[in-house]
Amino acid sequence: MYDIIIIGGGILGLSTAMQLAERFPDKKLLLLEKEAGPARHQSGHNSGVIHAGVYYAPGSLKARFCREGNRATRDFCDRHAIPYEVCGKLLVATSEQEVQRMQSLYERTAANGLEREWLSAEALKEREPNITGQAGLYVPSSGIVDYARVAAAMAEEFERRGGQVRYSHEVTDLAERTGEVLVTTSQGEFSSRYLVSCSGLMADRVVRLLGRDPGFTICPFRGEYYRLADRHSDIVRHLIYPIPDPSMPFLGVHLTRMIDGSVTVGPNAVLAFKREGYRKSDVSLPDMARLFTDPGVLRLLSRYLKPGLHEMKNSLYRSGYLEEVRKYCPSLTLDDLQPWPAGVRAQAVSRDGRMVDDFLFVNTRRTVNVCNAPSPAATSAIPIGRHILDKVGDMLRGG
Ligand SMILES: Cc1cc2nc3c(=O)[nH]c(=O)nc-3n(C[C@H](O)[C@H](O)[C@H](O)COP(=O)(O)OP(=O)(O)OC[C@H]3O[C@@H](n4cnc5c(N)ncnc54)[C@H](O)[C@@H]3O)c2cc1C
Repeated sequence: MYDIIIIGGGILGLSTAMQLAERFPDKKLLLLEKEAGPARHQSGHNSGVIHAGVYYAPGSLKARFCREGNRATRDFCDRHAIPYEVCGKLLVATSEQEVQRMQSLYERTAANGLEREWLSAEALKEREPNITGQAGLYVPSSGIVDYARVAAAMAEEFERRGGQVRYSHEVTDLAERTGEVLVTTSQGEFSSRYLVSCSGLMADRVVRLLGRDPGFTICPFRGEYYRLADRHSDIVRHLIYPIPDPSMPFLGVHLTRMIDGSVTVGPNAVLAFKREGYRKSDVSLPDMARLFTDPGVLRLLSRYLKPGLHEMKNSLYRSGYLEEVRKYCPSLTLDDLQPWPAGVRAQAVSRDGRMVDDFLFVNTRRTVNVCNAPSPAATSAIPIGRHILDKVGDMLRGG
């Protein structure tokens, strides 16, 4: 019998497992992951940004964990010799309306305790000669890293401290009983006193396996990227973001310097017809049937029908996608956009058709389930793990 089983070898499961092994060195810990290695889903297919915490509602878990996570991620990288760079981020307003929206973000960054600077059009041009806008908001503490490397280092640290990892073990059933949780996998059964689920795109399904109605559905949104041709690797010095439309849930297509020296453009946000559907052609009929009969998802889709169709059009036609970037980086052409792998976001959607905004946890007597952990959850992985540790600590003390 294990003391704690963790489901999910993404950055959240691994951060939690690593910190559990550190805080409870005498406990028997096991991490189960259905893929053959760590970070094969969201944690290995993202923009690689160490966010500063610009957008999040003051007082929210996102705002708090992102700010703490920005520092904690850098410290972790320092200790494990993982390269990262604090290159700073520039939000660029390209119209009078966006300048007004940027003003609210400027105030929000103050409420979130971030250092920042308002740039005039001239100051923006001086910092970024290839970027055009009416004004800019400079946030120095944003950075870049390879989260797959961070996750792999966490897995090593967990095993070094005595934790066990079983890859290619898919959890197929769960039973919460008096004194234990029985975990059935594709390769046999395990028993544990407590369970933590960090199962990303499958979060609602794991809660259902426990016999609970999660009250939300995970909606998969594919984020498609392009990589800029090598001659553009120095086109920007910072991360360049548009001003998000407050009525839209995602940040908008941005120019991201990657830690390997390349620059990516993206991601957009297109409804994926398969939970782990990385290509446009990936379709799962059971996944689609569940999505399109879910009242919350249907409400959401009807609310965002127009922007959703716009995203789909830009996904099919590169010229539409390019126009989004050319608003602030007019020198780019279609030939500059080269293929780059997509990621799929796990976004919880409530019954009333809202995208759950903050990080969300659902607990039962013996389990802690991470149910909504979209961006900036990679940045926030260490404080999220600490938060889960506190809950597990309470359970252990309760017996
Ligand atoms: C396109 C995109 C861009 C992003 N950009 C950023 C960014 O720049 N900065 C940032 O901070 N965040 C970013 N994010 C968000 C961030 O990547 C995620 O929030 C984070 O990786 C979530 O980690 P996770 O461990 O919860 O999920 P995942 O990495 O998806 O891990 C979940 C794991 O659970 C496993 N699993 C699921 N079900 C089972 C089962 N039944 N049995 C066993 N194993 C199971 C899966 O195989 C998977 O490995 C981005 C996300 C996307 C998709």
